[in-house]
Amino acid sequence: MAANLLAGKEVAEKIKQTVKEDLALLKARGMTPKLVALQVGENPSSQVYLNAQKKNCTALGIEHQVNTLQSDISEHHLIKQLIQLNEDKTVTGIIIQMPLPEGFDTRKIQSLINPVKDVEGMNPANMGWIVYGRARLAPCTALAVKTLIEYTGVELYGKEVVMVGHSEIVGKPVGLFLVDKFATISICHIGTSKAGHLEEHVRRAEILVVAVGKANLIPGSWIKEGAIVIDVGINRVGDRIVGDVEFDAAKERAAWITPVPGGVGPVTTAMLLKNVVEAAKMQADN
Ligand code: NDP
Repeated sequence: MAANLLAGKEVAEKIKQTVKEDLALLKARGMTPKLVALQVGENPSSQVYLNAQKKNCTALGIEHQVNTLQSDISEHHLIKQLIQLNEDKTVTGIIIQMPLPEGFDTRKIQSLINPVKDVEGMNPANMGWIVYGRARLAPCTALAVKTLIEYTGVELYGKEVVMVGHSEIVGKPVGLFLVDKFATISICHIGTSKAGHLEEHVRRAEILVVAVGKANLIPGSWIKEGAIVIDVGINRVGDRIVGDVEFDAAKERAAWITPVPGGVGPVTTAMLLKNVVEAAKMQADN
């Protein structure tokens, strides 16, 4: 069997279309969303990400601003800047650009973002809404994974889902999203691998999501015939970008598979735009 390709670009375009419609409604109410990315110091890889963010926002008519603080500022100073953004009614979305300098309490800072402006869904209040099954602003990559699975049209009820990776931005929220659809979820991590159990879990996955960051961690021969495979991983191997799943062999067994690049990535980007509009709507309705 040769898998259907889950082309992220196509899914992303559909999301952007709904974002445009929501933006038009907001503008009719006199509101233009504004996203501010707050970073401490500059680093080249963040710059690439921020440039792309700006380009995507401005293309849709979302205001975008980067506030760069000097690399030697204190945590207290960053928090003061964050509180100002929380209180500024013209700012509807806030991103704290990672990584923060060593010694900064990332969790504490994320918990101080106004939850209705938290477009990356990192505030504990927004994480809590996921547990309640009423996610409002959730991590963009987890939303992208959920959307891509739904795009295949699969009935999730009773399905065996294996999630490899248990990070806050992917594995944990994906597990919660899918358990609410009555899928059976196994969340695997380094402990699963070290105990030698990863293969047996992956082999029975009807839906497999991998978010680890290790090239070819999952051999294609482990993929169950007819499975849906969502590969979140991004790894540079020589001059190529590859995922965590051995793509060429996996696509011969899967029913659906995301390419890397061009799978989860574009949908994650579109989800950020969706969250920015969602946050503005929540503030407009308040
Ligand atoms: P993290 O490093 O936060 O999480 C990685 C997870 O993988 C952890 O749960 C870790 O477990 C687990 N892990 C590590 N080694 C193994 C192993 N050998 N077997 C099983 N599990 C293992 O990464 P992120 O979730 O932030 O990102 C994961 C990947 O996804 C990266 O490649 C990243 O670049 C990519 N990514 C892609 C995005 C996109 O839009 N396409 C967006 C975000 C991320 P433990 O912590 O216990 O070691």
